[in-house]
Amino acid sequence: MTVVGAGPAGSTAAKFLSEKGFNVLLLDKEKFPRPKPCGGGLPIRVLNRFKYVKDKGLIESYSFGGFAHSPSLKHKVELQRNEPIAAMILRKKFDYGLVKLAIESGSTFMDEKSAKDIKILKDKAKILLNDGANVESQIVIGADGVLSNIAKKSGLSQRRKNVGVCLFQEYLMSSEILDRFFGEKRLCHIHMKLQGIDGYGWVFPKKEHLNIGIGEVKSVVNQSKSKTKLSEVYENYINILKEGKIIPDDLKMGRVKGGTLPIFPLEKTYSDRVILCGDAGGFINPVSGEGIYYAMSSGEIAAGVIADALEEGKTDERFLSRYQKIWENDFGKDIKLLLRSTKQWTKDTEKFVKLASRDEKLADIALGILHGELSIYEYRWKLMSRYLYVYFKELFSK
Ligand SMILES: Cc1cc2nc3c(=O)[nH]c(=O)nc-3n(C[C@H](O)[C@H](O)[C@H](O)COP(=O)(O)OP(=O)(O)OC[C@H]3O[C@@H](n4cnc5c(N)ncnc54)[C@H](O)[C@@H]3O)c2cc1C
Repeated sequence: MTVVGAGPAGSTAAKFLSEKGFNVLLLDKEKFPRPKPCGGGLPIRVLNRFKYVKDKGLIESYSFGGFAHSPSLKHKVELQRNEPIAAMILRKKFDYGLVKLAIESGSTFMDEKSAKDIKILKDKAKILLNDGANVESQIVIGADGVLSNIAKKSGLSQRRKNVGVCLFQEYLMSSEILDRFFGEKRLCHIHMKLQGIDGYGWVFPKKEHLNIGIGEVKSVVNQSKSKTKLSEVYENYINILKEGKIIPDDLKMGRVKGGTLPIFPLEKTYSDRVILCGDAGGFINPVSGEGIYYAMSSGEIAAGVIADALEEGKTDERFLSRYQKIWENDFGKDIKLLLRSTKQWTKDTEKFVKLASRDEKLADIALGILHGELSIYEYRWKLMSRYLYVYFKELFSK
């Protein structure tokens, strides 16, 4: 078994497959530990589903609430809880930690090995590496990120233009300064539709780091704003945060980094001897851009399906199609509904934040869904009825 890409999706798949007793080769093109563009915010459901993440010390700190600001900055919703609403990680450490867990379970890990091409033969799959070597495997997991070569070369995705763009920076900061600005509760900030972008700005305080970013979760093809424009928005964002006394006045912006993310799942995430996991399959929360939960969950699901396939000697796409059925039923329902309802709920963000700032219950449900803590599939009616209740209450009290 070969897993291409050692991000959260690949390492999770490798770990679970090795635990089931299969020989697993985990490859990555980068030298590990490697950085990865990310906000580093984990929904709590990652910790509930993958208990070892907390037990193995991969969490840096927790956030117990935060603020959601309206586009005009006139309204803000504040929520503080006694329980964490999100866990914070440093991707370099987190991803390497997951790789080490896969190795502990028996996987062989090789970094600086880039998969260039894949050929599906009658009795095996052959991966061609950039150094000219070949790797043969019964089944291949393509967990090689948003611009997945495995997805492209196996015909599951054309060169992807449907990606969203983010800019971010993770600043090293003393815990005393972080305590002063964000409290021990490490309260986060989200700025909805910041300066008109189709996305949001985020401020994620961690134990000794501050992650600030902006992201547009919409196709680059439809983006009227150029990349330069997004960098202007980032610069303005830093100034807005300074003016609002949200971050220290003397914070130096430094070199801002960029990253891409998928905006919706591929139509088909399997073919003969191939399964796609994580960003390679396009699994992302289309509202928040959060993808680690889906990456790890799809890795876990893929491991289960592949174990069955290898035991039964069925590696064709007909058998592997059960992977898609399982993820669609697992987290796919939420992604689908989020995709459908995004337009409706983001149409009037200003009004939504204004109403939520006056009704804690509405704020609670909305933030829970945004953070991925509550399933939109289960909470959609509650959100809608509460929104309508607050809307009409406001209307009639005028
Ligand atoms: C700026 C930004 C902020 C984000 N913030 C958050 C957040 O706060 N919370 C959250 O949950 N999600 C966030 N995301 C999304 C999250 O980073 C991804 O959904 C997640 O990393 C997907 O995991 P993955 O394992 O599928 O892919 P990746 O983490 O991208 O890992 C893919 C791996 O494949 C390797 N690879 C690529 N090509 C090849 C090749 N040809 N051969 C071998 N190896 C290859 C890469 O080196 C990489 O290590 C953010 C994304 C961006 C861009």
